[in-house]
Formats: sequence, structure tokens, C-alpha cells
Amino acid sequence: MSDDGLKKIISHAKEYGFVFPSSEIYDGLSAAYDYGQLGSELKNNIKEYWWTAMVRMNENIVGIDASIFMHPTTWKASGHVDAFNDPLIDNKDSKKRYRADVLIEEHIAKIEAKINKDVTKAKKRFGDNFDEAQFRNTNPQVLRRQGDIDSINTRFKAAMEAENLASVKALIEDLGITCPVSGSKNWTDVRQFNLMFKTELGAVSGDSGAVYLRPETAQGIFVNYLNVQKSGRMKLPFGIAQIGKAFRNEIIARQFIFRMREFEQMEMQFFIKPGTQEKWYSHWKEARIQWHKALGLGEDRYRFHDHVKLAHYADAACDIEFNFPMGFKELEGIHSRTDFDLKQHEEYSNKKLRYFDPESQESYVPFVLETSIGLDRMFLAVLSSSLREEKLEDESVRTVMSIPFALAPVKAAILPLIKKDGLPEKAREVLAQLQLHHNVHYDEKDAIGRRYRRQDAIGTPLCITVDHETLKDHAVTVRNRDTMKQERVPIAKLPHHVDEWVSMSSLFRA
Ligand code: ATP
Repeated sequence: MSDDGLKKIISHAKEYGFVFPSSEIYDGLSAAYDYGQLGSELKNNIKEYWWTAMVRMNENIVGIDASIFMHPTTWKASGHVDAFNDPLIDNKDSKKRYRADVLIEEHIAKIEAKINKDVTKAKKRFGDNFDEAQFRNTNPQVLRRQGDIDSINTRFKAAMEAENLASVKALIEDLGITCPVSGSKNWTDVRQFNLMFKTELGAVSGDSGAVYLRPETAQGIFVNYLNVQKSGRMKLPFGIAQIGKAFRNEIIARQFIFRMREFEQMEMQFFIKPGTQEKWYSHWKEARIQWHKALGLGEDRYRFHDHVKLAHYADAACDIEFNFPMGFKELEGIHSRTDFDLKQHEEYSNKKLRYFDPESQESYVPFVLETSIGLDRMFLAVLSSSLREEKLEDESVRTVMSIPFALAPVKAAILPLIKKDGLPEKAREVLAQLQLHHNVHYDEKDAIGRRYRRQDAIGTPLCITVDHETLKDHAVTVRNRDTMKQERVPIAKLPHHVDEWVSMSSLFRA
């Protein structure tokens, strides 16, 4: 899918009440979006899936809900005041602003695409005998291209580590990167831009009252490490999870809900004994990719991307990338954060943030492994891999959103075949039976076929039709969204039947 694919998703999301531009009656606010009646259901379901997997299924992980405002020193300790910057560069002709690192990453992605093209061509040529690994390791053209990528990465990493912005600019010029809008190479110098939103607390103005909207939820976890450890009598290793809003004054916020200035994160900090970070890094990489794959959005839509330039706090880091309509992009980060954050908070707060290990009888600052996923990006991942148009046997086309059943905003639609003969009353009885357990809808407008189409378009897994037979045999027809197969189910067995298909626990069955 392309940018065109993204446009389709944006318009479908708006038409059916998933996502609206924020304050649209005032022509909207750039990069701010509101989740509508179906969007907020889907978002809640994604949260529930994450919270169940992380908190409920792990005895040693607990959840908290910290405030968005934090003591301003938090952000000095975390490094955000001094180092939470993006390198930005402007094109003098188009006056468009870009992130210098993104321009370089996109250039690398183009070279990677060429390598993949070479591989696909060779695969076709050699057929079954093709050994991809060998081809990648020996083909001179692929090796040359890979060498180019490696040298760009090395130069970029060195420049960023030395905070040498002139070298970043030189790299952009040497690579001949042009502005996608003007096509020119007429660039300004690269500058650093701090991404935190600053505001004032109460009536105090000036720097003494300055506070920030949190740019990540993680720090709310770190400052509560000891509170949770002591009050919950937690033993290492243990985790603290949190879902909440984060704010970043992104230089370029675009691509729908992929990059917003106000967004939501689902983060988990796992506190471990120093020296065990490699083991836990692999553990969480595996656990998180399994969480994604269990949704069935397509295994080839994910890939790991190891960080070349590590953040100031990390000793290992990777992203889980997802194949969005605009290509593979970061969906989740997994970071081995060492003891950086807790040590910084010890230093700035003058409070000990140690753990007394009853086994070794020593006291130390734990190391931390972080998993951090953007809820909005996950929402886009679900939406973009679900929306499709399907040609049916009779040549007609249906629009269907194959959202994983357990995440679907509406789990079942209860449809009386016609609006009379006692069918609506019976249908409402069925509704009452199910609505305590799931979000189910009642719909009696239009012909049954059109009602099915409407439910397909919003991803409702089951359509339950009440017909004249129902009054006699106390059974209903249940239609499956994906197979469109229909089966007769006794009303008495309906709650169990619906549950089997749509409950969150279905995602945890091996
Ligand atoms: P990027 O490189 O795309 O800016 P990041 O590396 O800065 O992301 P992290 O700081 O690791 O992101 O944040 C963790 C997660 O939060 C990301 O994997 C992403 O899913 C989400 N996220 C970060 N920034 C945004 C944003 N502006 N809008 C929506 N989600 C975001």
C-alpha cells in the first residue's frame, strides 16, 4: 500500500467514526486527532490486550497511573532538558522543515529497497535452488550497496555522538539528498530543537514555575520505583507498566496518527539485577513479537531494526517495525536502559533508589529493560492491515475490515430480519443477554444485506439474525464476517458461542 492507501484509511476512519480531525469545525489542528465512537472502543481493546498480556499474565508486573505533570527536575535528571532534541534542517527553496536523521534514514531505505529488488530478481532467476543468505553475502552489487549503507551509518553515528551538526549537514550534501518538495539541495545548517512542551504551573510565572508536559510515560515509573517496590513488596526481577498520554513538539507531525504531538504510550519498565540485561533483552524481544504475531495481522508485516545510534541511556536497543502503508516504520521500542535513569534520579533527588538483594545480601541500583509501544501507532497498524476490498462470487465488491475479532469495536450486531411480527422484541431480548459481556449493537434499518455490509465495513465479527423461525425454534442465524458462513445457534448457547469467537482470551490460546 502507498500514500494512496493511507488516504483510503483516513477517509474510511472518518466516515465510520473511528478517527476525526481534531476541532474540525475550525478547520482542524494540524497533527491532532480525535477518536470517535468506534475508534475509542478499538483503542480500549488494544489497551486491554496489552494490559492483560503485561500485567495480568505476569505475576511480577504491576500497573500504575502517574500524573502527566512531574517535578521539573525529573526532566533534568532524565536528560530531556539537555538532550531531547531532534536535528532539524530547512530547505531554503521550499521552506519545508525536515528531521536530518529522517532524511538520512530514508536515503538508506532507498538503498535497502534496491538490495531487495536484486534479491527478488535473483530469486526468480534461480528458482528453488536460490540461497538468499549466500546471495546477500557474495553478490558484488549487493555487497557494494550494503557497504554504502554501513559507511553512511558509521558517519552518521560518529557525527551525532560528537554532536557535530556540521558533519550531519555535510553527510546530507555528500549523499546528494534533495528536498522532496522543491527537488533542490539548498539546505540550511542543521540545528537542535527541543521537543518538550513547556508551560507554567499555577500563578507563578518565570522559570521557577515552569513545568513540562511529559514527553514519555517512563519517568513516572522510575520516580515511583521505590514506592511500588516497597508497598508491593516486589522482588527483582519485577516490572511496572503504565498506559498514558505523552507530548512531543514534533518538528514534522504527519502521516495521520503515526506521528502526533499528543499521543499515548504503553510502557513497561522491567527492573533486573545488573549483569542479567542481555538475557532479559532477548526475553522481552521474543515476548513482544509474540504479542504482535498472536493478532494474526500477518507475520511478514513485522521486522526488528537494531539501533545504530544508541540513546544516551541505552546499552542495547531495537525497534519492532511494522509495514505501514508508508513502509516499514517503528511501532515499538525495546531498550536496555542500564541503571542510567535510577542513578540520575538518585543524584538529582539525593534519595537512594536501591534494591536490597536478600540472596546476595548486597544493595544495588537495578538495571532496567523497557518495552515502549505507541498506542496510536498500534491502532494504525490494526486499521491499515485490516481494511480491504473483496470481490465476491457474484462479482460485487464488499469493503471489509478484518480487525482481529477480540479487538473489534463492535463484537456482534443483532439484526431482526424485519421490523415487525415481534422480531424486534425478540432481538432486543438477545441484545440484553449479550450486552453485559460485550459491546453489541442493535440495527433494524434497511435490508439485511445492506446491514451486513455496514457491519463488515466496521469490522463486526458476528451478525446475529433473528427471523420468524426464531420465535419457534429459539435459535438465531450467526454470520461470520470473514467466511460469510452462516450457522444456526440456539439462543441458550449464544453467550458461550459469541465468547468463543470474540473474547480476549482467544488471543492467548496457544
Ligand atoms: P520516532 O523515531 O518515530 O520519533 P522514537 O524512537 O522517538 O520514535 P520512543 O521514544 O522510543 O520513540 O517512543 C516509544 C514509542 O512511542 C514509539 O515506538 C512510538 O510507537 C511511540 N511514539 C513516539 N513518538 C510518537 C508520536 N509523535 N506519535 C505517535 N506515537 C509516537
